[in-house]
Amino acid sequence: MLPVRTRFAPSPTGFLHMGSLRTALYCYLFTRKNKGTFILRIEDTDQERLVPGATEVIYDTLRECGLNWDEGPDVGGPVAPYVQSERKDSYLPYAKQLIESGHAYYCFCTREELAARREAAQARGETWKYDKHCLGLSREQVAGNLEKGLPWVVRQNTPTTGESDFDDLVYGHISAPNDTLDDMVLLKADGMPTYNFANVVDDHLMGITHVIRGMEYLSSTPKYNLLYKALGWDIPLYIHLPNVMRDAKHKLSKRDGDAYYSDFIKKGFLTPALMNYLALVGWNPGDEREFFTLSELVEAFSVQGLSKSPAIFDVNKLTWFNAEYIRRLSPGEYLRLAQPWFEQALSGTGMDYPRLAELMQPRTEIFSQIPDMVRFLKEMPGYDLALYENKKQKSGMESVPGALALAKNLLETVEDWSEEAIHAALIPGIAAAGLKNGTVLWPLRVALSGQLSTPGGAIEIAYLLGRRETTRRLDAALKRVGGAN
Ligand code: GLU
Repeated sequence: MLPVRTRFAPSPTGFLHMGSLRTALYCYLFTRKNKGTFILRIEDTDQERLVPGATEVIYDTLRECGLNWDEGPDVGGPVAPYVQSERKDSYLPYAKQLIESGHAYYCFCTREELAARREAAQARGETWKYDKHCLGLSREQVAGNLEKGLPWVVRQNTPTTGESDFDDLVYGHISAPNDTLDDMVLLKADGMPTYNFANVVDDHLMGITHVIRGMEYLSSTPKYNLLYKALGWDIPLYIHLPNVMRDAKHKLSKRDGDAYYSDFIKKGFLTPALMNYLALVGWNPGDEREFFTLSELVEAFSVQGLSKSPAIFDVNKLTWFNAEYIRRLSPGEYLRLAQPWFEQALSGTGMDYPRLAELMQPRTEIFSQIPDMVRFLKEMPGYDLALYENKKQKSGMESVPGALALAKNLLETVEDWSEEAIHAALIPGIAAAGLKNGTVLWPLRVALSGQLSTPGGAIEIAYLLGRRETTRRLDAALKRVGGAN
């Protein structure tokens, strides 16, 4: 077998879709596993859809994800250039060769003419495909039209009989009757190739052995293979990948904010967690393992593990992965990543972030949840008095005023406001009063946080709030529950 050469060929749209990122990932894994060469090619032939800075988004995202390429626009390589618009001149000679051999032809039909014939076909209940109108032009007519400067495109001349087939490494045997194949445009009026032509020419000129791409290209592949054959080129092997879906019916979508890599990073997902989960959306390692680093994925990857059914991207499962990855961060790394999110809710409080980070790390699933979880430390939320009823301890409201008053007295004896000192004042003091810890610490935590679930207990919260704020909140609570102040 030839040494493996693959390419990831994104169009620079400004964002990297999760489906594309997964294609890049599988392409990378397959290539590294087979000790091949991974190429990045930028497919920017659709000049109307170009977005400034979009190529950089691709570079940055792939690098962040660890998917380094061996040849590409920025690193160069033996079959440069790697940007299709810079290869513009390489396509016309092959289009001409196809015209010469009768596998393609000039078409001069205008948009209006095409629209009228399409409508007429639809009115007759036929599905429209190009009707080979311009295939009927004589050599002289074509030469005359070109001379007159009429706008033209080049179309593929697909056969009207027989079948085209191939074996896809994921989807198996695919065959299509030739008379269903459309005479697609290969070269556009601006001289740029369409994807349909450029992918064939470039994959050949770049020596691509395995074409790995989304399944939306599966049905066009028989047409591409006809082009390879017409040009006398070897057909690469194909690995088409099923769509990445939100659920059985819906694709990931821009509107739902779950389409792009950047959407997930903004929400505070970790790249390694995202890559780990993404690898499993449509691929199965064949055993029970779930956690993989990129190099472990390379080791484990095989085409046999790829599935052809649509792959469901389950954000809940991703969130679970993310929480696991967050738990595995070193405390310092967690603090570094969490700090901007703490700041969003707590700026100006002078809060002990390293201590808060210790309390928050086991509870964080996604970083974007942090501001809502810690906001109570800056602003005391309104709360319902029913929170004071501790079902577990079966203690009702009646013990609350006394418990809070005791807590207040005990806290007044604390000299240095540290967790140890708060602990040393509260715990023995509660015991001395003949009460259970929960009878006092539960209402104290409610009084200081106004919520049922908090990172840390009453002692940690009192420490984080500081003496003044603790006292202020405790006084307010005493007032509300009717205790002495
Ligand atoms: N430019 C195409 C896309 O972004 C690439 C398809 C392919 O990999 O051939 O969908």
